[in-house]
Amino acid sequence: MSQSLSIQENFNLAEYNTMGLTAKARYFISISSVQQLQTLLADSQFQSLSKFMLGGGSNILFIDDYDGLIIHMDIKGIEIEREYKDCVLLKIGAGENWHELVIYCIEKGWGGIENLSLIPGSVGAAPIQNIGAYGVELEEVFDSLEAVNIETGEIQSFNKEECKFGYRDSVFKNELKGAYVITSVKLRLHKNPKINTSYKALSDALERKGISDPTVKDVSDAVIEIRRSKLPDPAEIGNTGSFFKNPVISKKQFNQLKIEYPEIPHYPAGEKVKIPAAWLIDQCGWKGRRFGDAGVHKMQALVIVNYGKATGGEIWALAERIQHSVKEKFGVDLTPEVNIVT
Ligand SMILES: Cc1cc2nc3c(=O)[nH]c(=O)nc-3n(C[C@H](O)[C@H](O)[C@H](O)COP(=O)(O)OP(=O)(O)OC[C@H]3O[C@@H](n4cnc5c(N)ncnc54)[C@H](O)[C@@H]3O)c2cc1C
Repeated sequence: MSQSLSIQENFNLAEYNTMGLTAKARYFISISSVQQLQTLLADSQFQSLSKFMLGGGSNILFIDDYDGLIIHMDIKGIEIEREYKDCVLLKIGAGENWHELVIYCIEKGWGGIENLSLIPGSVGAAPIQNIGAYGVELEEVFDSLEAVNIETGEIQSFNKEECKFGYRDSVFKNELKGAYVITSVKLRLHKNPKINTSYKALSDALERKGISDPTVKDVSDAVIEIRRSKLPDPAEIGNTGSFFKNPVISKKQFNQLKIEYPEIPHYPAGEKVKIPAAWLIDQCGWKGRRFGDAGVHKMQALVIVNYGKATGGEIWALAERIQHSVKEKFGVDLTPEVNIVT
């Protein structure tokens, strides 16, 4: 076993996933530089093993122990790549904590990611599902990223178009799934930020505070407050935030549903219609239900929780039952937002 790479065997992943699952990895390593990563990928000892990239573990579900190599991203660093009159181009190491980056930018007065405050996880994982919240998505400030090809060890740059961002989606969840390790991300942040308060819960919160001309800090503070009041803290109860994506259905299917469920909440999504998954799940009576230590949060139907000792298999079995009942009642498919690791 290579000493310089400090690989650990039979590693307990409990501290590395916010669902609090005690899955084990056959091999585990934290990577703090691109060179270290390339050395690892070139090591013949590990080439035949399956590999999985781990950031903060806030959007994954280990169904079982992982019989391969978990590569934990720990490349740090925030630098100004270029400064323009109106914006800065920041290059950020993939192992930086996302929320700490948001706070750093707010302190500098740079805008663009304040609505994405308090999203758990790492900077490197943010492009994977094009993180979004409170009316803003990562792609709005995204410039490009650097990634290492797991097969060849080569460094490649991806611009916004190449990332094929969509709603909680990118090329890295589809045709390039598991093929690259993102090592750094470049974001373009604004020196004279345009504040986005289009999301009703956010504008309401600012209004309640009597703030009519909010700064990036005001927006961040309000988002943090809303999130703390609405979402369970993984430090207190294991969860991965929203377990499913909000389904996007055709107008035809929506119109049929509306006849039977006139009160169905919905939002325009281009030519299609987006339905809140939480509403569908709630209507099927799942909110607050518990099976052993796996359950649906009592306030948030979209959040599946681990009350303590649930296994990944038990969480997944519950998720499948929810999918099944939503399909049966509404004819709508729920797709997990969480990445399932088998
Ligand atoms: C309480 C809570 C609230 C949340 N709220 C939101 C929200 O509002 N909006 C939102 O979009 N998400 C939300 N999430 C989901 C999650 O925070 C994001 O998806 C986040 O980007 C995941 O980061 P991570 O580092 O924890 O990724 P992980 O969970 O470690 O990994 C997620 C996926 O990315 C891959 N990956 C991670 N790092 C890399 C890398 N460097 N290179 C290549 N692949 C990589 C992994 O293989 C995996 O497939 C929430 C989660 C929780 C627990």
